[in-house]
Amino acid sequence: MGLLSLGTPLPWSEAKEYADHVRKHGIEQFLNIYHSQKNKQKQSLLWGDEIEYLVVKFDDKEKTTKLSLRAFDILKNLEQPEHDFIEGKTKKAPDALWRPEYGRYMIEGTPGQPYGSTFRDLITVEKNMKLRRQLAIEAMHPDESAITLVNYPRLGCPHETVPDYEPNGTACQSLFVPDEIINPHARFPTLTANIRRRRGSKVKINMPIFHDKNTLKPFIDPTIPWDRQLFDHDKEAKEGAALADHIYMDAMAFGMGCCCLQITFQACNIDEARRLYDQLAPVAPLMMALSANSPIYRGYLANVDARWNVISSSVDDRTPEERGEKPLQHDRFIINKSRYDSIDSYLSNDSNYKAKYDDINLIYDQDIYNTLRENDVDEKLAKHISHLFIRDPLVIFKELLNVDDKLSSDHFENLQSTNWQTMRFKPPPPNSSIGWRVEFRSMEVQLSDFENAAYSVFIVLLTRVILSFGLNFYIPISKIDANMQTAHKRNAVLNDRFYFRKNVFSTQGNHSSLTNEDEDAYELMTMDEIINGKVSFVPLIHSYLNSTNIDIETRCKLSSYLSLISKRASGELMTGATYLRQFVQQHPDYKQDSIVTSKITYDLVKRADQIAKGEYHPIELLGSFSA
Ligand code: GLU
Ligand code: MG
Repeated sequence: MGLLSLGTPLPWSEAKEYADHVRKHGIEQFLNIYHSQKNKQKQSLLWGDEIEYLVVKFDDKEKTTKLSLRAFDILKNLEQPEHDFIEGKTKKAPDALWRPEYGRYMIEGTPGQPYGSTFRDLITVEKNMKLRRQLAIEAMHPDESAITLVNYPRLGCPHETVPDYEPNGTACQSLFVPDEIINPHARFPTLTANIRRRRGSKVKINMPIFHDKNTLKPFIDPTIPWDRQLFDHDKEAKEGAALADHIYMDAMAFGMGCCCLQITFQACNIDEARRLYDQLAPVAPLMMALSANSPIYRGYLANVDARWNVISSSVDDRTPEERGEKPLQHDRFIINKSRYDSIDSYLSNDSNYKAKYDDINLIYDQDIYNTLRENDVDEKLAKHISHLFIRDPLVIFKELLNVDDKLSSDHFENLQSTNWQTMRFKPPPPNSSIGWRVEFRSMEVQLSDFENAAYSVFIVLLTRVILSFGLNFYIPISKIDANMQTAHKRNAVLNDRFYFRKNVFSTQGNHSSLTNEDEDAYELMTMDEIINGKVSFVPLIHSYLNSTNIDIETRCKLSSYLSLISKRASGELMTGATYLRQFVQQHPDYKQDSIVTSKITYDLVKRADQIAKGEYHPIELLGSFSA
């Protein structure tokens, strides 16, 4: 989830004194990178995926699961081949790279080398994902496993971790989760505490409960310790933070403890990266709905299928003034979104772009914008960066305050990596051979590696089609935001409609018979229409593939991936969220009361593990494709 530096993190009272220092040097660092690398060209596509895993411990006798807080011991083993390679102890490049994540029960794996640009590369993806899972499991105890559920269903219920801890830590001050659940690297507890301190209250997460036949109505959660008096913040729940008919959560771990599937592409050059950023932005909410896999929070069935809003609220460090709840007095801006949200402005200067698409009020730092403009950064890029820089740096390491802005990008990355948006535009690191990249961040991790590979490959093929057919997906940003909310809804894939552009082939100058308005029209469409019908992502990809030379094995594999996506969009196959929700509702222990008990959780996590290992093949989720 971002940069890991070593050092002594400043407490919030000191960190905020250095905010302008970090911003000033962050911009200096960006300018150095921009001017030294803006003309960089890369020959071919390189890309990679990131998969986040939960480490779960099974007790098959008691039929219980717990989150295992051993991620660090496990990572030590997993990272060894990488260290050996770097130190020259072996010539063999590692098969996978491993990183810690927010939760002490999470690990993150990426391929050891980026994938290349050939079609053959696309069929190595699933193999590498399977190998990664196998490596992860081998590095664990025999009763542990690497699970790709987005969210551990009973995260925040009592006694769900090993070792077991009381929820009484000073960093989160949560009513539900202990501090020991957080990655112990100084960055993470500091990030957690500083978000709370900056905000002035605990984070407030409310996801609507799924009202089943026997669910309390109104649902006032009896498991919230309403009257606890351990910390001053404890009273917030009672004073209105915990909403009726919602699942209330009060800590960063509920959000950043979720697992996702992210894809990063290296573009040929900065313009292509900016173009892909823009074209994939309207795709992000669609892919979240199509990959939705998280219908359960803190032991309850939710009335949503996806995680995004949970994370968004879990890191929302805006003060009441910034949230527009109090008149601006001490703060500089009213800010319409959390740091973790969908994008706020487009970035490309290509001819399909029109100013009307940027229809939300973009908040940006005028001084930083001016500095960037004076230093020859174009308007859109200057706005993008000066928008990211309205935020304060949350974690500042004392030892790293003064660095050489020509050699380091630490201060730039400090802000860049804590703006967690649906798309991320990534400049090359200073003095490296890496090119300009974009990251696609909205997708939920899938239960099996067949699905994870299918979603990853689908996005890669979509970028190829966008670039070779010159597709135009521009719609107003406000409509992307609306889609993002729609994408959370229960079974949005089948029940809801999404704004999308009607004519994706339109380019400036074409269609002279149409008025400008018609040419740029968008409308609400079903997922099936977007993926299989009117817009036709899947048929477009097929016609792209048909125009190229591909061997049979590759073609079959790619077809099975496209078919999964296509059938999820049409409803022929279920999303993970629908599958998991149904699993709970059909479980013999479920009492139609929205409660996901620890026995149900055991069976569900077990099922997830079996699916991932190929020991169980639910046709309604995966179709008849061989795993
Ligand atoms: N786990 C986060 C998510 O589910 C992403 C963290 C990261 O940026 O790596 O979106
Ligand atoms: Mg991550």
